[in-house]
Formats: sequence, structure tokens, C-alpha cells
Amino acid sequence: ADLGRLAAAVLAQIQDVVIEHEDELGNLDAIAGDGDHGIGMRRGIDAAAAAGRDVSAAGLSVQRVLTAAGEAWSERAGGTSGALWGSAVIAAGLALGNKDAYRGADAAAAVTAFVDAITALGKAEPGDKTMVDALLPFKDTFLAAFDGGAQVAVALASAATAAREAADATASLRPLKGRARPLAEKSVGHPDPGAVSFGLIAARVSAYID
Ligand code: ADP
Ligand code: MG
Ligand code: MG
Repeated sequence: ADLGRLAAAVLAQIQDVVIEHEDELGNLDAIAGDGDHGIGMRRGIDAAAAAGRDVSAAGLSVQRVLTAAGEAWSERAGGTSGALWGSAVIAAGLALGNKDAYRGADAAAAVTAFVDAITALGKAEPGDKTMVDALLPFKDTFLAAFDGGAQVAVALASAATAAREAADATASLRPLKGRARPLAEKSVGHPDPGAVSFGLIAARVSAYID
């Protein structure tokens, strides 16, 4: 259950970075959305980190840890991003199964499952101005680095940089999905909240996995 403990530790890192940026994410979502992205992410990760901690302390598999965490995230966060994050965390857990340590191929499978769960459920296309605009460059960069022989930590660092840059670049887009669509004009010039939160989280997880 070493991998279960690592997963719980990663969730605790995500909780820290969400707490640090909670107000900023809420303010960003208030520009064209309903202003709840900070509080929604906070509620979701508080529940997910607590569930992950309990299940990993019982010595259970990474899949059990991430299933409990993802279910808690969706349930407690409410909102679009909570459902998407919850399903992605569960999917990453399924990809890791009951492994006790991960190899690069497992990390690549988990990254792929995480991102694909969000595109399957949310059905946003690239350019719709959602978190998908940060997720796809993250996945593509991770897989390209990994295929090129990079270590997981190195691939993750490149992928996190790509996600942050892509999140910043959503500022120029008009939202075509989600709650920001009716106020699309106001959103132009500001990055998408869900893309920004994903970029911040990717950077934190990458720094931790180093
Ligand atoms: P809500 O929009 O329900 O208030 P949040 O404010 O927590 O939920 O999350 C908003 C974020 O969710 C957006 O900034 C965007 O990144 C993401 N999002 C919205 N709809 C979709 C979708 N269909 N696919 C992927 N991401 C989406
Ligand atoms: Mg919102
Ligand atoms: Mg909302």
C-alpha cells in the first residue's frame, strides 16, 4: 500500500495549493462565471484529502484510496469542476489498480486515464476555454517526454510547465462551454479558472514528486 500512501500525500499537496489560491480562483470565476471555483475546489479537495488519508491509513490499495477520494470530491464540491475532478481521480486510481510501486508506464497510464475521463464526461473541445485547454497539453507533453525516455519526475515537470503556459494562454479565448458562456465577452483577457487551478495543481504535484 506504499502507492496508496503516496496518493494520499499527493492529495494533501493538492489541498495545500488549493487553500493558498482559493480566493484568487474565486475572483477569477467571478469575472464571467458564478465565483465559486475557489470554494468548490476547496470543499472537494478537503473531502478528498480526508478520505484518502483514512483509506491509506488502513493500508488499502492506491485504487481504493483514489476511488474514495474521487467520490468524496464529486459529492462535496458540487459544481462542474467537482464532478470532473472526482471522475478523473477515480479513473487514475483504476489505471493504477493494486500496484504497490509505480513504473513510468503506470504513471503514463494514470495521466492518460485522468485526462481522458474529463474529456469523456465534460465533452469540451480544445479551444472551448475550459480546463481541457490545460489538460491536453499536459497529457501530450507528459507522454512525449516519457516516450523520449524521460524519468517520471522530469516528464511531469515539463508537463506541468506546459499546463501552466496553456492555462495562461486561455486568456485570449472566448468560453464556449460551462457557466462562463453567457458572459463570454467579460471573460476575454482573463484565463479560465479551471485551467488555472489545474496548472497550479500540476506544478505543485510535480514539485512534490521530484
Ligand atoms: P461551476 O461552473 O459549476 O460553477 P466551477 O466554477 O467549480 O463550477 O468550475 C468552473 C470550471 O469548470 C471552468 O473554469 C472550466 O474550466 C470547467 N468546465 C466547465 N465546463 C466544462 C466542461 N464541459 N468540460 C471541462 N471543463 C469544464
Ligand atoms: Mg463556478
Ligand atoms: Mg457553480
